[in-house]
Amino acid sequence: MGRQSFGTSDALSERVREVLKRIKYKVAVVSGKGGVGKSLVSSYTAVALARRGLRVGLLDVDFHGPSSHIFLGLRNARPRATLEWIEPVEGPLGIRVMSVAFLTPEEDTPVIWRGPLKSSAIVELLTKVNWGDLDFMIVDLPPGTGDEALTLAQVVRDVDGSIVVAMPSTVVKSVVSRAINFVKYVGLRPIGLVENMSFFYCPDSGRRYEIFGESAVEELSAKYGIPVIARIPVDPRLSEYVETGRVLILEEPDSPLSRSFEEIASRLLAELERVQSGAGR
Ligand code: ADP
Ligand code: MG
Repeated sequence: MGRQSFGTSDALSERVREVLKRIKYKVAVVSGKGGVGKSLVSSYTAVALARRGLRVGLLDVDFHGPSSHIFLGLRNARPRATLEWIEPVEGPLGIRVMSVAFLTPEEDTPVIWRGPLKSSAIVELLTKVNWGDLDFMIVDLPPGTGDEALTLAQVVRDVDGSIVVAMPSTVVKSVVSRAINFVKYVGLRPIGLVENMSFFYCPDSGRRYEIFGESAVEELSAKYGIPVIARIPVDPRLSEYVETGRVLILEEPDSPLSRSFEEIASRLLAELERVQSGAGR
């Protein structure tokens, strides 16, 4: 499969490489289907990493419904452009955010792009944005098995891997399996499984409920040899935070939801450091 077929020349790939040389770790967030919490995981993991003093970038290329920036309270933000560069939007804790949402005039404008256009947009967002020196870049990919993950894997050949977001229930199991096989196929090593909306702690009784059914994530973990790096509870307050442009993980760092992101950040860093030190390759 030639890289040319995705609209990326070698010169462009070279530029992408120049940009990415200045970013230590690059991780994509993927899922088999929409609505499972990919954007929540992308944005809040970025915050959890930034809280450790790391310099973090967040790139949202989910053309179907870019929303990572909304979880960071950046709904109406727009990047500044100079003649040379586009400056990423500065989010909480200095997170540098760029999203395809920032490229459309109105927030509710649907982004109807064909594969090749999406591929070149991803390259543009990597090469024309002033990312600077970063410790970490998180890329929120569209759900499913489309061109975008292929482009990313091909132009960003040194992407470290991916976080696969799942939800409980046996229905989701086959969808997640497909996503795992796909990321492996395109060369995005699955680093960890995250199960979102795993359970719910009733605030009145403190009891734990598995409202979306039985977890399938352990089974997937065993089958594919990918560790479960966190289980994120349902937090009904999240929607209010999002609607009012506030960030739950910043305001309530000790909530069970926030703590699960601390776990994601530490497991992710440990795994990447292990691989970079040569143990995993
Ligand atoms: P995706 O990016 O996979 O489409 P999102 O991250 O946008 O999914 O999440 C989908 C919806 O579910 C959002 O409205 C989000 O606020 C909500 N949501 C996701 N995870 C949780 C959670 N753990 N608790 C409560 N609401 C959640
Ligand atoms: Mg999303």
